[in-house]
Amino acid sequence: NTPILKVENLSRHFTFQTGMLKRQTRTVKAVTGLNFDICSGETLALVGESGCGKTTTTRLLLRLQSPTFGRVLYDGQDINELKGAGLKAYRSKVQAVFQDPWSSINPRVRIRDFVAEPLVVNEKLTSGEVERRVHAALDAVGLRPQDARKFPHEFSGGQRQRIAIASAIVSRPRLIILDEPVSGLDVSIRSQIINLFKDLQAEYGLSYILVAHDLATTRYLTDRVAVMYLGQIIEQGATDDVFDAPAHPYAEALLSAALSADPGEVRNEIPMSGEVPSPLNPPSGCAFHPRCHRNMGEICQSHSPALGVQAPNRTVSCHQYAP
Ligand code: SF4
Repeated sequence: NTPILKVENLSRHFTFQTGMLKRQTRTVKAVTGLNFDICSGETLALVGESGCGKTTTTRLLLRLQSPTFGRVLYDGQDINELKGAGLKAYRSKVQAVFQDPWSSINPRVRIRDFVAEPLVVNEKLTSGEVERRVHAALDAVGLRPQDARKFPHEFSGGQRQRIAIASAIVSRPRLIILDEPVSGLDVSIRSQIINLFKDLQAEYGLSYILVAHDLATTRYLTDRVAVMYLGQIIEQGATDDVFDAPAHPYAEALLSAALSADPGEVRNEIPMSGEVPSPLNPPSGCAFHPRCHRNMGEICQSHSPALGVQAPNRTVSCHQYAP
């Protein structure tokens, strides 16, 4: 299965001037050295606390920002080199669904026009074909053709998220980035939307990259998971393997609070001391060492761990697993 999207050494650093005379240059490493890929029909999760670099990563994947170094390959082509028809094809085939369905829908635009927008911007279709595709997309998310004439205020939060999903699938994408897609919804609605994602994936062979705080949703919806800390992926592997036996101490602490697949299993939650450090002033050595319950002293404080292979298809960045 050849990857649709391949991320190689992806890094985004922001440099700015500080001080009275703006003579000091400081750098924030929002993300550094990310490597992952995603194949057809697969779901990858990016998890981690706020400030770990998930938002920057999704912006880089959507080409809303360009990397400082590294690249994102779509069908083998660097997305930052795409222009004209190639860029339109990318924008059409890689879509996103964001957290807040209220803010992503313009209140004065009819549902038909909102859902049709990716087609109008990126494809040349007749108005009849656009109409047909909008109705098919609304039908796929459980709405009716007559809903196309209505305005956003006529729908509930859950229905509005269905409309946002219809707009994401109308251009028949291959990959959808789901950025906290159910966090803004009532708990009672969440499972319906999560199951809708599953159904659409089964029907259209979609791939998803899920960014979510909710670890239960992550476990249910995804095949693989990349755990991020302070702009780096510190562990990556099959979701069930990582949730069942996290190897990196940060993943261990983060996931200790997650629901187990086995209701009879009792997990001891591992407390994490302190807050995520500022990316303006990251700790030396292993960035997690001030909070780590397995800190090994000098080596952790002074040397940044390389990414090691801890098990087949599992990579971990921690001195415990150094080659
Ligand atoms: Fe903890 Fe050391 Fe591993 Fe970092 S390298 S996660 S401080 S054990």
